[in-house]
Amino acid sequence: MPQWETVIGLEIHTQLATESKIFSASSTQFGAEPNTQASLVDLGMPGVLPVLNKRAVEMAVRFARAIDAELAPYSVFARKNYFYPDLPKGYQISQYELPIVGQGEVEVVLDDGAIKKIGVTRAHLEEDAGKSLHEDTQLGGGMSGIDLNRAGTPLLEIVSEPDMRSAKEAVTYARKIHQIVTYIGICDGNMQEGSFRCDANVSVRPLGQKKLGTRAELKNINSFRFLEKAINYEIERQIDLIEDGGAVVQETRLYDADKDETRSMRSKEEANDYRYFPDPDLLPVELSDVWVDDIIASMPELPDARRSRFQTQYGLSAYDADILTASRIQADYFEMVADQCGDAKLAANWVMGELAAALNKASLEIKDAPVDAQALARLLSRIKDNTISGKLAKQVFEAMWAGEGGADEVIESKGLKQVTDAGALEGWVNEVMVANPEQVENYRQAEPEKRAKMIGFFVGQVMKRSKGKANPQQVNALFRSRLEEAS
Ligand code: ADP
Ligand code: MG
Repeated sequence: MPQWETVIGLEIHTQLATESKIFSASSTQFGAEPNTQASLVDLGMPGVLPVLNKRAVEMAVRFARAIDAELAPYSVFARKNYFYPDLPKGYQISQYELPIVGQGEVEVVLDDGAIKKIGVTRAHLEEDAGKSLHEDTQLGGGMSGIDLNRAGTPLLEIVSEPDMRSAKEAVTYARKIHQIVTYIGICDGNMQEGSFRCDANVSVRPLGQKKLGTRAELKNINSFRFLEKAINYEIERQIDLIEDGGAVVQETRLYDADKDETRSMRSKEEANDYRYFPDPDLLPVELSDVWVDDIIASMPELPDARRSRFQTQYGLSAYDADILTASRIQADYFEMVADQCGDAKLAANWVMGELAAALNKASLEIKDAPVDAQALARLLSRIKDNTISGKLAKQVFEAMWAGEGGADEVIESKGLKQVTDAGALEGWVNEVMVANPEQVENYRQAEPEKRAKMIGFFVGQVMKRSKGKANPQQVNALFRSRLEEAS
């Protein structure tokens, strides 16, 4: 049997974060009562005319810029004709021969650190369809309902080249697109709510063969974890099938997360089944240079640029910069803390350490953190100005997290202020020396290079007596001079 190579191309549907639909004024808000947000245009009533939402076009322009893609100065909406109960018009308005976004590419970092370029074939604007509800309807058993709230929601469908060679790579690419569209604010990225949907085209071929194998298209994948599992299942299925003498048929398969398998949904339509033709109700989209330049000028910093800036400006490692820029909200949070407390390393350690752990434990996202960036910055400033030790700061953080107030309030009410008064510190140092004559003797007998380590014991004793409040640097210095005295 030959060795098999996997080939994957993704079609990603991103729901654009506009307030209203792509061709009507209805709201795009998620979660409304069924059919309360569908207008005559969305319902496909005869005699109504679609009007293009300029904001959706603007978002496509931003995406083109973000992946360095060709932007078509002239693009055309086309009707994709098919029948389905959730599409009362009988056609979906999409773009076909002349999409707004042409060839582009994104760079992904693979597990071994290598950088790989994944080609984006095109990205086109289109409207979403409605949704069939087979359960949870108030219709009673055995009935299905159609909710047209989603009909006409603007989508940007991003089609990749068949450039990925494993499920892992496909997930890395999908995460990258997710990162980009959320950074540039064109999509909220919520996969559970269907704002970011991935269809995976998967085929296998004998290693070394140029010609692509026959693909299956996997649908119904609503998380990155399922994307990886669905692809891996499908690779196995295709290889087994071929090795048993069978052949892969081109079809659409549904991923079932409960059973962790894919199963056939329908044979694949060919483009000519759709009878695409330019939509006579809509004018071609012509972009003016001035308008495009304005949009580009207002673009936020892109994730890759921000990652390298974090390394140069804040002296972070590539690894830390990567984690801290994973999402725009996390990067904003970190940057606010770093700038306000004036210590990027400290800020990075806290955001990736204490804060991440607390979020994880409470299953919260950073946008819902009970300690915001300003509050954390104030706490870190109190470490920097020696009001509290780093260790006690963790206690303060927990109290802040539990809603007991800001850093200063908690430090005050819990009496956690660091002791820096020389008299008080000397008192503790004396007590510890008197209580541990043997250790004092050992220290004085020890080689000078061993002493630095041994001093930790004495400092630890003072920290215990002071309940963590003694300033450890000062205590360390005091011991050093006292222990050296008589040796
Ligand atoms: P359609 O619109 O009919 O789904 P496209 O030709 O636009 O078909 O391709 C859709 C996606 O499938 C693209 O991402 C493309 O890279 C990918 N693709 C095409 N052929 C293969 C193949 N043989 N194996 C894996 N992916 C493929
Ligand atoms: Mg497709």
